Amino acid sequence: MSAEKTYEEFYNVLRKAGGAIPVIHNDALFALIKELLTPEEAAVAGLMPRKSITAEKLAETLERPLEDVRTHLEAMTDNGVLHAKRNKEGQYKYSLLPLLPGIFEAQFYRGTKTDRDYRIARRFKDYLDGVIKLRDSLPEPLPAPSTSYFRVLPIEEEIKTNKTVFPYATLSKFMEQIQDIAVGTCFCRHHAILVDEKDDCGVSHKNCMAFGDAAIFMSERHNGRLVEKEEALEILKKAEAEGLVHCSANTSEELVFICNCCSCHCGILGTAKAASHASSILTSGYIANVDSQLCSACETCIERCPVSAISMDDVAAVDSEQCIGCSLCVSTCPTGAIELIAKSDTRTPPETLLDLEAVMRQK
Ligand code: SF4
Ligand code: SF4
Repeated sequence: MSAEKTYEEFYNVLRKAGGAIPVIHNDALFALIKELLTPEEAAVAGLMPRKSITAEKLAETLERPLEDVRTHLEAMTDNGVLHAKRNKEGQYKYSLLPLLPGIFEAQFYRGTKTDRDYRIARRFKDYLDGVIKLRDSLPEPLPAPSTSYFRVLPIEEEIKTNKTVFPYATLSKFMEQIQDIAVGTCFCRHHAILVDEKDDCGVSHKNCMAFGDAAIFMSERHNGRLVEKEEALEILKKAEAEGLVHCSANTSEELVFICNCCSCHCGILGTAKAASHASSILTSGYIANVDSQLCSACETCIERCPVSAISMDDVAAVDSEQCIGCSLCVSTCPTGAIELIAKSDTRTPPETLLDLEAVMRQK
């Protein structure tokens, strides 16, 4: 089979792998794919089933030598194209990562600056710019999806006084139960630096977290540093102080990762800021509410809000369509004039990442 044909086959499985952005058949995507995989690797990945599979089973299915198949699977895992998880027998089961979130994150989480990193960062930028250009050229904006891929985690202290506390919005219970936590480099901010060294907004870079099996995977394959809970909580506190928004996949029972996002480099938060309806793109299930009697019009909250949801008349006013319920304004209001209140139209997110991906694939 020709190299072009193997990349076409890989494109076909990548297209069906899910994720939060479209996988469009264009030159920019194929330039990226060719940077990510050799033709030999694409020939293996292009024949992988959607469900995870051992090297033994895939070699048997493809009727190819086991060591040959395993070598390619391992190389693609180390290069952030595949996910690998050990089964009860200790064998790795491999599966293809979606383009984003998935392959993008696995390229830049390790925070390195190799020649390959620079090339892939440029290829991703070209592809993502093309997706944005295509979206902006549509005669009508795309309708907001009924289920978002991402959601916001509010600062827990700020919802404790509210009558409604969604169990999935509280981090502390989850952090009590979780065993494995890995911390790596913010892939969005690192990607930006690889494209342009001057593109640095000055906030911390080492604060991207993975949990459970994802933490083990990130520590084994992508330079993730395993940390104790106390250090993880300190990192989250520092992110809040820096005005970063905790974002995760829109799941209610399983928490696989937490990104600490700035609206200048996170594609999702940046898109939400630019929209006039950020809460339909991502939300915590809460919105900020200002008590006009307590507001001193100091404008601290306007500076603090990452999606420009607050304006000033005589007192601060929150745009409920734009507020994503991050609570960054609540924690810094000097007069205690802002509280978080539950949104009336909030729906409980899918339980697990697999459930979420199944919902996204139905669209
Ligand atoms: S930070 Fe508080 S007091 Fe200052 S303008 Fe905003 S709501 Fe009003
Ligand atoms: S108004 Fe407050 S809670 Fe809403 S998005 Fe802005 S900072 Fe976050």
